[in-house]
Amino acid sequence: MPATGTAEIPGILRHMAALTAPSSKLETLATGTRWGEGPAWLPAAGRLRWSDIPNDRILEYAPDTGRTTVHRTEAGFVNGRTLDAAGAVVHCSHGRRAVERETATGVATIVDTWDGKRLNSPNDVVVGPDGAIWFTDPPYGILSDRQGHVAEPEYGGCYVFRHDERTGRTTPVVTDMVHPNGLAFSPDGRTLYVSDTSVLHRPAGHHHIRAYDVTPDGTCERGRVLAEISPGCPDGLRVDEEGRIWTSSGSGVQVLGPDGARLGEIPVPEVVSNVCFGGPDLYITGATRLYRIRIRVPRR
Ligand code: MG
Repeated sequence: MPATGTAEIPGILRHMAALTAPSSKLETLATGTRWGEGPAWLPAAGRLRWSDIPNDRILEYAPDTGRTTVHRTEAGFVNGRTLDAAGAVVHCSHGRRAVERETATGVATIVDTWDGKRLNSPNDVVVGPDGAIWFTDPPYGILSDRQGHVAEPEYGGCYVFRHDERTGRTTPVVTDMVHPNGLAFSPDGRTLYVSDTSVLHRPAGHHHIRAYDVTPDGTCERGRVLAEISPGCPDGLRVDEEGRIWTSSGSGVQVLGPDGARLGEIPVPEVVSNVCFGGPDLYITGATRLYRIRIRVPRR
């Protein structure tokens, strides 16, 4: 898959001068995905790993060479990913309906059931400040064979779960959303942000980000709508060190303050699925392309 070089998008810095470098341009790094998702920066390898879910493969982009390589095929319809405290990749598999850890020696299941029933299709994951694994479980990997395998939901909801690897316990922490999808913590760990991508779901679809207070014992309280995102809906999101939320949308990357106020947008010429910070850059997965833009905010 060839890289396609730098492409300048008119109007890219609309409202964003304070957050992006003065000469920032949106670069197209790779093309050819059918639904890109799950970007994560691997600092030890100096590579950006992401998913091409319908093609059931995992890709990597190397900034030093500008080359994209296929990391894994027949990957299990992997979606979102993050790194654990040891730097290992933790990702979500639609195909195996599981959250897994991938290391140099292979892929191991972390959690694939709750209360004796299979998960739907874990979508996105983050390691919380408490060291536990927090993940969302909407149904997109079991609704069709495009991003997984058609199957019946087993526990009758779409929850956000907290999985504590020390105890082996898996606990629903958010149960009042339709299709929870992207998730991220505030820098102090006291607020959890979760996007809802059920905009096309009937009768109660949403396209908003909800915020929850996180208690010291790892439960979530006082859920409220932080921001409605349009066009499209918010899918993956990340939070920088100063608490700004960088969220996907139908028109680009929207940047929100911790209070949900819209600070600006990086227009992208297709639907954006997710974002991640990597070195001095923001990486952006669109439906068919991987993008990058230089930013100048503290990130994590
Ligand atoms: Mg997602």
